[in-house]
Amino acid sequence: MREVIIIGSGPAGFTAAIYAARAELTPLLFASQVSMGGELMNTTDVENFPGFPEGIQGPDLMQKMQEQAERFGTEVVYDDISEVDFTGEIKRLTDTNGTVHEARSVIFATGSAYRKLGVEGEERLSGHGVSWCATCDGFFFRDKTIAVVGGGDSAMEEATFLTRFAKKVYVIHRRDSLKASKIMQQRAFDNEKIEFIWNSEVAEIHGESSADRLTLRNTVDGTESELPIEGLFVAVGNDPRTHLVHGKLDLTDEGTIAVEGRSSQTSASGVFAAGDVIDPSYRQAVTAAASGTVAALDAERYLAALDGAAQPEAAAVAG
Ligand code: NAP
Repeated sequence: MREVIIIGSGPAGFTAAIYAARAELTPLLFASQVSMGGELMNTTDVENFPGFPEGIQGPDLMQKMQEQAERFGTEVVYDDISEVDFTGEIKRLTDTNGTVHEARSVIFATGSAYRKLGVEGEERLSGHGVSWCATCDGFFFRDKTIAVVGGGDSAMEEATFLTRFAKKVYVIHRRDSLKASKIMQQRAFDNEKIEFIWNSEVAEIHGESSADRLTLRNTVDGTESELPIEGLFVAVGNDPRTHLVHGKLDLTDEGTIAVEGRSSQTSASGVFAAGDVIDPSYRQAVTAAASGTVAALDAERYLAALDGAAQPEAAAVAG
């Protein structure tokens, strides 16, 4: 039986692992088969993670976090958890092979998943001109005309990145002002390959074998128009990945896992949550990492209390 099992391999999961491992809890971390490293694996330059004044590539940052976690004894497994049982004092997690893993505490750091538009043609043409990841698929759109949907940092980042390959990039946004940070907005405004289509949403994606045309609906007057494209990137945000814990942990109205105050304590004793899965507001790599720290310290204190040991002093576990 493990002292702590961590589910998730983004900044929250690996930071929790670094702290838990340094506290000699020898964590087992489930890193997923397909989405190892979380959202930063699909990011190019990360310019706002402290300590990297020149910026760092998202995958390189995740690799460093993993190395740091493993250096102190974290065991990383490239598999997913498919079922959880939090009812008893001993938590039971079933992986995709059906193996049951037991732990005295669990840190849930499953992050968030790309949001879909929910329009006709999206599912059918997914992987055929419709994508959620510019860094994964941008290369296939050399000299093409493509569109990006969204007005946040992700949409600006994707659009700017895609101009490396594409002939032209439309950004389709449902309002007339952007949600993205000023620096990301300006970068997109300054890029002559990018053209903004304001107050518009995608009503339908057309194409036989590949996306070739959009029906756009004006959000002000409801009029519809057609836009020929050769690819579409959807960057309209993410939803917390909570499907494993529906009916098992309390959720907030926003769909994130509910935690007590500033702690990581969920509605189940011994189960802690961290990162995007509890955060409807900030959702930065650095806030997720900090949240992972909180979860590891909470798990450590919980285990110490179970053992009847004195609570560790904050100073003893810090730094
Ligand atoms: P976001 O900030 O939630 O923005 C989502 C955008 O998509 C908003 O502009 C929203 O419109 C629009 N949208 C949502 N649902 C839509 C729909 N159904 N149809 C059309 N448009 C829709 O999401 P995000 O851009 O993915 O960013 C998530 C977090 O990651 C943010 O905290 C962001 O700062 C961070 N991030 C940071 C960086 C960076 O610093 N390098 C890069 C990427 C992401 P409204 O504006 O009308 O709401």
